[in-house]
Amino acid sequence: MQFKELGLDNRLLKNLNHYAFSKATDIQQQAIPVAIAGKDLLASSKTGSGKTLAFVLPMLHKSLKSKAFSAKDPRGLILAPTRELAKQVYGELRTMLGGLSYDAALIVGGENFNDQVKALRRYPRFIVATPGRLADHLEHRSLYLDGLETLILDEADRMLDLGFEAELRKIHKLAHHRRRQTLMFSATLDHAEVNGIASDMLDSPKRIAIGVSNQEHKDITQKFYLCDHLDHKEALLERVLQEAEYRQVIIFTATRDDTDRLTDKLNKQGLKAVALSGNLNQGQRNTIMSQFERGVYKILVTTDVASRGLDIANVTHVINFDMPKHTEEYVHRVGRTGRAGNKGDAVSLVGPKDWASFKRVETYLQQDLSFSVFDDLKGKFKGIKPKKPHFKKKSSASQQNKKAKAPQKSRKPVKRDKSFHQNVSVGDAVFIPKKKVAPKQDDE
Ligand code: ADP
Ligand code: MG
Repeated sequence: MQFKELGLDNRLLKNLNHYAFSKATDIQQQAIPVAIAGKDLLASSKTGSGKTLAFVLPMLHKSLKSKAFSAKDPRGLILAPTRELAKQVYGELRTMLGGLSYDAALIVGGENFNDQVKALRRYPRFIVATPGRLADHLEHRSLYLDGLETLILDEADRMLDLGFEAELRKIHKLAHHRRRQTLMFSATLDHAEVNGIASDMLDSPKRIAIGVSNQEHKDITQKFYLCDHLDHKEALLERVLQEAEYRQVIIFTATRDDTDRLTDKLNKQGLKAVALSGNLNQGQRNTIMSQFERGVYKILVTTDVASRGLDIANVTHVINFDMPKHTEEYVHRVGRTGRAGNKGDAVSLVGPKDWASFKRVETYLQQDLSFSVFDDLKGKFKGIKPKKPHFKKKSSASQQNKKAKAPQKSRKPVKRDKSFHQNVSVGDAVFIPKKKVAPKQDDE
């Protein structure tokens, strides 16, 4: 189906000519008419399937076709979990605003607050923001949301994971009026936390799910390698990078410190790598992202701060140097490649510390994931078998003497150590405790 069949305003169709494509993706075909009709929406489709235009276009269409509720308040507000994603969405919004007399503002953490106050005093009609900074501006009364017509939550589940529920509820409360329309989008919207906030923030939403979040992404080839320890991981990484015919790679590590350490190592090997993590200031983060996008660096080493939404055309490979803490981040990390119909490769390195996470991903994806090997880089680690609780054998007469000296042991099953759930998969019905990350850890 062509965009022009979706009933969009001609000015938007003209701006769509900026892109090389003219056919709408499945999510665009389904979501745009429902959103234009004014319904609230809870929509999911795989990574790289064009969700941004699926919410930007109806938001703008509605504004073009109707009179604003207020002369000053923003008409549309798009929230995203990270500054980088907000910036990217803002870019796409600006493209669609070409030739229209609407102003827009990007309001994210890490940028000068007063400059943003000044930008908000110009009463932009559309705002793209991270929830923490927007909530600060609401507190400061730099803007009001009484006239807000469309509220969009991109990657809503991640905003909850990052601890932004209070900010989202505050924004919802300050923009709570009958005519507000709310749209929620993500590739992974199927966990319980989302339902809670969705039922409070959305009004009888239409649910659109193109596929399910754990469905195999046909354009992404996944490989897994077992490794023994850090040195072995690094050797495997080196080999993977040597053999891969990559244009650009994103490597995900568990912590911010690991990003720096690994980046140094890669640069010593003569590879052009750069680290992006949440502890850099925003100027540095912006510079790194724009340099990576322009191909100045071949490899971006990062944490989950870059797992969501980022759309960089040349990323042919994603490597999980460490497996992610949150299972669904696996889907988002590997989704940085294989976008808009292109092919991509995802490689994950699985050591003893990653095993529990690997098993959760396997359960989530409902696939039996197999391991690849490099014959000359084989390790000893073969995974961790679930521990069976064992009972003490009945003591025999010959053991009685020893027993008298040894402290009495209980007949109870051996106590599991505290790391049991981190180390052992307990079958298909594995329980994934959702660890709440402290708010504003990566973004604000
Ligand atoms: P998602 O949010 O679903 O991960 P994005 O909105 O970031 O996906 O879009 C991914 C890529 O697909 C972007 O480069 C975007 O320009 C491109 N894209 C968007 N709509 C279409 C379309 N109808 N046909 C082809 N490519 C598209
Ligand atoms: Mg997106």
